[in-house]
Amino acid sequence: MSKPEYYELLGVSRQASADEIKKAYRKMALKYHPDRNQGDKAAEEKFKQISEAYDVLSDPDKRAAYDRFGHAAFGPGSRGGGPGGAFHDPFDLFRQVFGGGGGIFDDLFGGVGHEAGQSGNDLRYDLQITFEEAAFGCEKEISLRRNETCVECNGGGAAPGAKQSRCNQCGGRGQVTMQRGFFVLSQTCPRCHGAGQVIEKPCAKCHGNGLTEKVAKVRIRVPGGVEDGMRLRSANNGESGVRGGPPGDLYVVLHVQEHELFRRDGEDVYCEVPISFPTAALGGELEVPTLEGSARIRIPPGTQSGMLFRLRGKGARQLDGGAHGDQLVRVLIEVPSKLNAEQRSKLEDFAKACNEDVLPMTKSFFERAKRLFQARKG
Ligand SMILES: [Zn+2]
Ligand SMILES: [Zn+2]
Repeated sequence: MSKPEYYELLGVSRQASADEIKKAYRKMALKYHPDRNQGDKAAEEKFKQISEAYDVLSDPDKRAAYDRFGHAAFGPGSRGGGPGGAFHDPFDLFRQVFGGGGGIFDDLFGGVGHEAGQSGNDLRYDLQITFEEAAFGCEKEISLRRNETCVECNGGGAAPGAKQSRCNQCGGRGQVTMQRGFFVLSQTCPRCHGAGQVIEKPCAKCHGNGLTEKVAKVRIRVPGGVEDGMRLRSANNGESGVRGGPPGDLYVVLHVQEHELFRRDGEDVYCEVPISFPTAALGGELEVPTLEGSARIRIPPGTQSGMLFRLRGKGARQLDGGAHGDQLVRVLIEVPSKLNAEQRSKLEDFAKACNEDVLPMTKSFFERAKRLFQARKG
């Protein structure tokens, strides 16, 4: 595989000034730095390549040699007197260009940081609520196990009176650098966990962690209008931070039970209610269940199966406000499935008394169907 061209790698022309080359490198180095692209092998390779390109093009002697001989100027076959030889470590180069101190990494990438406090873990809690609780909201007290700041040592991790001394693994910096293959990575010190200090005699209660497991009770306010699968964030109710770090958050995942009569569509609640054929034909009153008690619906004569009736304000609460949705009642006409002799004979009398004007939908449908058959016959 041929090596990419250095000018192309940095996206600059062969006439680019030293300043242009530096700018191009800064931009690309930030984009492809492994701290920003963890586990991304392609980015890692790219970072290596642009660093190599910059290493050459930023050095007037190396650049002149490259302009003349290309990659051959630095290859294994390059003449001994040339400017070839080992390239800079890309991380050294990066630090040189960005002004040195390790702190620049943290500022640029919001990295691990040198302060002792590590933030607490976020927690997840799965909460079952009823259909009604989801519709109208509720308050729940939940119990959960979580790590909290140890009261014995106040989170410091030291036994009473115990001394702290500087961590000898990181020299008190809280960070250690590790060579991993080609890269030098900065990591939180595994011995002192970033504190920079080690405790000579750890707290007996938390074994020096500064945290102990407790069962905590947390009140969760579930707003009306929530739906199955929604996640509520309870700020700072996750685990306590380590050594003064901020606490994590608690995420409550809602599981809404299904209802045997109702289903929701946003803030509207749907309910299907069977009615008899005589009620549909003659009209009448219908008592229907709602989420809160019951309500009456007037069924007008000639009501068809599937018609929807709206009960204003009987739905669920809107998630973003105090208003309520509606309840929609869909009536379904139930056809009698078993008839005794008397019922059958009366229904037959009824059928005989009917002409097609009684059923305008039927009449219109068969007229259209008839026209279709005639059109097909030509
Ligand atoms: Zn403790
Ligand atoms: Zn350390």
